[in-house]
Amino acid sequence: MGNVFGGGGRRLYLSNSGTEVFVDVLMLAVSELADDGWDHRFAALLTLQDQNVMGRGAVGFDLQAIAWGATARDRARSKGFVLRATALAASGHRWGELGYRPAFAEDHLHRFAALVEPFEPAGDPDPDGGFPGPDEGASACCARHRVLSALPHWEGCFLCVRPR
Ligand SMILES: [Zn+2]
Repeated sequence: MGNVFGGGGRRLYLSNSGTEVFVDVLMLAVSELADDGWDHRFAALLTLQDQNVMGRGAVGFDLQAIAWGATARDRARSKGFVLRATALAASGHRWGELGYRPAFAEDHLHRFAALVEPFEPAGDPDPDGGFPGPDEGASACCARHRVLSALPHWEGCFLCVRPR
């Protein structure tokens, strides 16, 4: 079993453990770069990829289901944020704090970037696509780890709640 991240007819298939690592390293980078409301909504989407909550093999998302923005400018900015965060994650940002070696993460991040880069964000996503709304952003920041979390659904960031 695994999880699928899709977009524009392309797919990135990750094993359950590969998904966990991919989301962890991306969350560390997103927490570093998140600046406006949309960024926190994307962070909330990442918190929804927690298989301990959602079920093993029950996560993944499609780029087509993301509400990238109302205008072409907003959409370009949102996509740019995802690409910047992916690149920062691939650089090894805070990997030393994970408590494990993120095997294959660099390859998975490069493949995710290759999915996002050619993708043309549309203005009207699937309303049932599950992308967190403007009021649902992960705006809580764990004081201990400086990682975003989606309070009140989660008690802390992923580094707080996951047993190691
Ligand atoms: Zn924490």
